[in-house]
Amino acid sequence: MIGILDLQGGVVEHLGHFKRLGVPARRVKTLEELDTLTGLVLPGGESTCLGRLLRIFGLDAAIRRRAAAGLHMWGTCAGTILLANEIEGETPHLRLLDITVRRNAFGSQLDSFNTVATVPEVAPKPVPLTFIRAPVITRVGPGVRVLLEVRGATAAVTAPGILATIFHPELTPTLAFHAYFARQCGLTPLLPASGPTDPAWSPEAWTQLAPLPGPAASG
Ligand code: GLN
Repeated sequence: MIGILDLQGGVVEHLGHFKRLGVPARRVKTLEELDTLTGLVLPGGESTCLGRLLRIFGLDAAIRRRAAAGLHMWGTCAGTILLANEIEGETPHLRLLDITVRRNAFGSQLDSFNTVATVPEVAPKPVPLTFIRAPVITRVGPGVRVLLEVRGATAAVTAPGILATIFHPELTPTLAFHAYFARQCGLTPLLPASGPTDPAWSPEAWTQLAPLPGPAASG
């Protein structure tokens, strides 16, 4: 079972992508809900807000304990900021990944952008990527492997038990990153990592995915 941290930010889109892959996933709000997971997604959102909520609910210490016991973690955008050992000019949050990040490094919300890139370890074909007021990874420690660079900045990394992406695969049609993380968690996605990727993806394309039945898509 994969959990999506459900305090603030983009939860339902991650649930939808795991559902499309046939990978069991559910929302996580409480300490108890962490117990049965093999993987936890820290979604995009606003990292200051997420960090405060983590501390208020005592989830920060619990997540660190579970990570030390083998829980796999994936941070998307703000989630990557939460994982980082260092945030330029700010106090770090979970300190589970030996990277330094610079928040809002591409500029304001209006400088958010979409692109397409090949990430050979994740998918053989180019995948669409969307960056929403993204941070960049400005330092990568020993033991952290770079998976992708975009516009000269480190955009995706992995380390034992951890995946971090500064973009939002859950907001594009590609399931490749969700399949990659599921495999890291020892789960078997039903679809191959290569599909279904829409090469003609446009900024609006993700909203045209077929709606999912059930509460995951409606919440
Ligand atoms: N700008 C946000 C932050 O610094 C991250 C944005 C996102 O998750 N898309 O927390």
